[in-house]
Amino acid sequence: MPIYEFRCNQCRRRVEVFVRAVGQPYQAVCDACGSSDLRRLVSRVVHHRTEADRLAELDTSREPGPDYYRDSRNIGLYAKKRMAELGMTELMPQIDEIVEKGRSGQLLKEYEAAAESREL
Ligand SMILES: [Zn+2]
Repeated sequence: MPIYEFRCNQCRRRVEVFVRAVGQPYQAVCDACGSSDLRRLVSRVVHHRTEADRLAELDTSREPGPDYYRDSRNIGLYAKKRMAELGMTELMPQIDEIVEKGRSGQLLKEYEAAAESREL
């Protein structure tokens, strides 16, 4: 099933809309705020991809733009790919854990807790 991606003009979230088939009519509504004021993201029809697919597609010869990281699934991919390219794959288990913490917000909480304890 193809997925169209939109940016909600009200709350700025990225919205994915499943469509039965390319070219079929669809009603796109932001699932966060309910707005139908959505902007289609440039001709992107994406299919659910594995992280391996995302890694394979990532071009590390240039910096990904800021929009890239609005999709939390992309957090850490650049670092992972660079490490793989540099042959540092033995460090990957740790990186996976750090990236997972980054995506879930746990890393931020740990930083904040550490910063707080230093201030005491
Ligand atoms: Zn919205």
